[in-house]
Amino acid sequence: MDRFYVTTPIYYVNAEPHIGHAYTTIVADVMNRFQKLMGRKTFFLTGTDEHGDKIVQAAEDAGVDPKSYADRISAMFRQTWPQLNVSNDHFIRTTDPEHMKTVQYILQKVHDSGDIYFSTYKGLYCVGCERFYTEKELVDGKCPDHEKEPVEREEANYFFRMSKYQGWLLEHIQSNEGFIRPERYRNEVLSFLKEPLEDLCISRPKERLSWGIPLPFDDRYVTYVWFDALINYVSAIGYPDGPLFHEFWPVAQHTIAKDILKPHGIYWPTMARAAGFPPFQHLNVHGYWRTEGGKMSKSHGTVVRPLDLAPLYGVDAFRYFLLREMVFGLDANFSEEALVQRLNSDLANDLGNLFSRTTGMTDRYFQGKIPPFGSEPDELDRSLVTQMEATLDQWRTEMPRLAFHKTLMAVWECINAANKYVDHAAPWNLAKDPGQLPKLQTVLRTLLEINKVVAVLISPFMPDTSEKMLQRLGIEKGGFGPAPGRRREMGHFEGRYARAQGGTPFSEDSKRRAEGRQASQGSRQTRILPGCGPETCTRGKG
Ligand SMILES: [Zn+2]
Repeated sequence: MDRFYVTTPIYYVNAEPHIGHAYTTIVADVMNRFQKLMGRKTFFLTGTDEHGDKIVQAAEDAGVDPKSYADRISAMFRQTWPQLNVSNDHFIRTTDPEHMKTVQYILQKVHDSGDIYFSTYKGLYCVGCERFYTEKELVDGKCPDHEKEPVEREEANYFFRMSKYQGWLLEHIQSNEGFIRPERYRNEVLSFLKEPLEDLCISRPKERLSWGIPLPFDDRYVTYVWFDALINYVSAIGYPDGPLFHEFWPVAQHTIAKDILKPHGIYWPTMARAAGFPPFQHLNVHGYWRTEGGKMSKSHGTVVRPLDLAPLYGVDAFRYFLLREMVFGLDANFSEEALVQRLNSDLANDLGNLFSRTTGMTDRYFQGKIPPFGSEPDELDRSLVTQMEATLDQWRTEMPRLAFHKTLMAVWECINAANKYVDHAAPWNLAKDPGQLPKLQTVLRTLLEINKVVAVLISPFMPDTSEKMLQRLGIEKGGFGPAPGRRREMGHFEGRYARAQGGTPFSEDSKRRAEGRQASQGSRQTRILPGCGPETCTRGKG
């Protein structure tokens, strides 16, 4: 497949961007940069979800109208992503006229085919969640999120005949491995599907909620939540007739946090089926970031603001930390201490040190000129190159499987092996003996090649660092071509010169700065702000 389409959820504008949003979005960015590097034509979508009761409430609290409120928060998200080096191609808002038109088009289509009907819904409703609960979902008769008893409510509404598609969805999940991944989430959806699927309420009376997209077949109602939000994934690429839709929808991958598994794993594919287009290719589901040992929850609300730490330690260090620390699919702990630890050990000590030694010795012994291989490679040289090649293979296979931490571990094993290689080969001793010049050339050249490949492998994670390293090695932006890391790439340097540009990433200086900040903070905890957790700012409504 020569194309790639990745999305984040559209984030609910009832709160400002936080680490949960940042992680999902950076993951999508890393995936997108990797696929681009592999020569694929890519499209990367993010955006904001702007309708619903909570927005009306938040706007009232802020003393503005819903649209002005949505404009303000949406702009915050839009401004956050470039600061984290996120390279999305489009930013969609559910208040975009094009999106609203598409939602109405799909609603009309599904209504015409008989899969939307009018009925009365009676149930237990949590006002905080804006949704009805089943008895089974309640904990001690209370909403598990708000720890409040729901109220009984009866309401005439429109319903999507989701139950009709249960058999089809079960079959589709069972016959498409990787449709929902990692497997634990696939199993979770399969276990939901063991129970009879209920139809989905898709409207709210305008008298109760006017901030939404009017139903095209009954203007007394607006569209409720998911039938508006989920459609962004196709409205953004011009469904039903746009060229981008035809090009990218067949390869669509959604990246989400686990709180919105059910809407994405069940509602969305059945909606697509009813509207007459195939479902996404992959749903990639990740876990939660915990701070201070507890899940960041909406009621206890602890949030690390990404923008607080990213500029302090550097965007690349921040991105590296998130991708290295979390096993995709599982929960992970976030702390400033752990971030500083990674910055000092992995980035400054391992990567920074290898790069500064290599370029420093190239300057010293070869006046900055990339030396040709001299002596025949010996066992030591060969084993390092073999390891690098194995790392390349792993990178190519593990990245599309979302094994980011594993990929980075492999790259770092290689970096550590290269640092050991420097110690063993001791170029400073070789340099003392003119008869050892051919050997010195081979050692430095091998190291330069390893540094070059490392720079390419880390580029989806740390684009700025990668660029700086390649620039210092005399390689133009994008000069390593598509699908890098093939074996023939070795030897790319012929006739090139290392330049005194770019500089050394994660130098001792950045390490000292991080340590200084830690010291000045003493035992103070990571700065955390009251707010909402990852599950509230994407739609936490099951
Ligand atoms: Zn609730």
